[in-house]
Amino acid sequence: MSFAALGLSENLVRAVTEHGYNTPTPIQMQAIPAVLGGGDLLAGAQTGTGKTAGFVLPLLQRLMTLPSKRPAGSKAIRALILAPTRELAAQVEESVRTYGKYSKLSSAVIFGGVGINPQIAALRRGIDIVVATPGRLLDLHQQRAIDLAHVEILVLDEADRMLDMGFIHDIKRVLKLLPVKRQNLLFSATFSDEIKTLADSLLDNPALIEVARRNSTAEAITQKVHPVDRDKKRQLLSHLIKQNDWHQVLVFMRTKHGANRLAELLNKDGITALAIHGNKSQGARTKALSEFKSGDLAVLVATDIAARGIDIDQLPHVVNYDLPNVAEDYVHRIGRTGRAGASGEAVSLVCIDEAAYLRDIERLIKREIPKEIIPGFEPDPNARPEPIQLRSPGHRPQGRGGRNNRGAAQTKSSPKQGGTGANRSVPRQGHPLGTGHNNTGGGRRGGGNGGGRSR
Ligand code: AMP
Repeated sequence: MSFAALGLSENLVRAVTEHGYNTPTPIQMQAIPAVLGGGDLLAGAQTGTGKTAGFVLPLLQRLMTLPSKRPAGSKAIRALILAPTRELAAQVEESVRTYGKYSKLSSAVIFGGVGINPQIAALRRGIDIVVATPGRLLDLHQQRAIDLAHVEILVLDEADRMLDMGFIHDIKRVLKLLPVKRQNLLFSATFSDEIKTLADSLLDNPALIEVARRNSTAEAITQKVHPVDRDKKRQLLSHLIKQNDWHQVLVFMRTKHGANRLAELLNKDGITALAIHGNKSQGARTKALSEFKSGDLAVLVATDIAARGIDIDQLPHVVNYDLPNVAEDYVHRIGRTGRAGASGEAVSLVCIDEAAYLRDIERLIKREIPKEIIPGFEPDPNARPEPIQLRSPGHRPQGRGGRNNRGAAQTKSSPKQGGTGANRSVPRQGHPLGTGHNNTGGGRRGGGNGGGRSR
């Protein structure tokens, strides 16, 4: 199957081929003809499936072939792509440029945290395709810098993430600014009730596409858990990187503070590392990402939100320095490797505190992750679980409404309080190693699903 056979025009096929892709991925095979047909689309696809080209290519073709609906002299935009994070928005817009290089269509990316004036200036020149995060888009609209009244195609990319980040109200506000008649494409990795409600209100008789079973982890990814004591994780990570001569490692951490500290300590160990998270300036994030991509930087330490949409071809290693407290994030994290058919390795450093998180993850992906103890890093069989700190000190929620499912900062929680949702307490059910450790400290068990998580 070739891109041309999917109905794409010669100049798009040329751009894709020059970019190195000859065979469409499964999502592209389904999405491209569906979008070219002009109808709405509901697509279940994770990052790594090739979903971006799956909507960008047919979107470009439709804009190239259809007459614009904007009145003469108007600077209204023709297509709007909403994305949850700056990184994803920037990467999607890069794809628009790459695949649209032989078209006359113009594009711009719009996100907060950087000066608004260059964005206003770009829009004044007249732009066809805007890729935006919702908050800054609304700011620009309020300043009358963008005209959304003639949008022909709307894409919500990673819609589940946008809802997680509290963008639902912003999205609804944006929808009110768009013309009633338009083509709508919604991409989401997961389908919560909230997503279904949004899809019902947004989409008109959509084509349904789902690639890679929901919540399944890509077959191409080798997963491993290294049980280890919490205070040995850093040494173990340095050991793994040096021993295996890893060069491009994306390390995930729950907190920004932890990410900064880990990057510092790795540098002290002689491993080049930088942290990337929401408190860093856009310039610092872009620099870290480009150094990582070019190979100058061995390790990028990222929080879940900052890492969304990081698009690096064939990223070989993902390390979960700690396990995410929301099991779906594990799937997103390890989805950074083993992309579009390449193989990858995802290892998780798991201490006794995280036993319940590990169980949640294994339940979600419906498989047990192989455990491997690294000699010299055997976990202490008598270790007791301690509460997990979910947030950096002084944390402020990201996104306009914040990640509403993550609850308030947790610094300490006594066993008596137990744990519900984001504030849940210590797992009480033995060691991830299966060493049969039993906590005798009393208190309720924090295992299972804990309740209170709103996803
Ligand atoms: P995405 O799911 O859009 O984030 O894309 C995942 C990765 O797959 C990106 O690095 C793309 O550049 C790459 N990719 C997209 N389409 C193809 C294709 N047809 N063949 C090989 N790789 C692709």
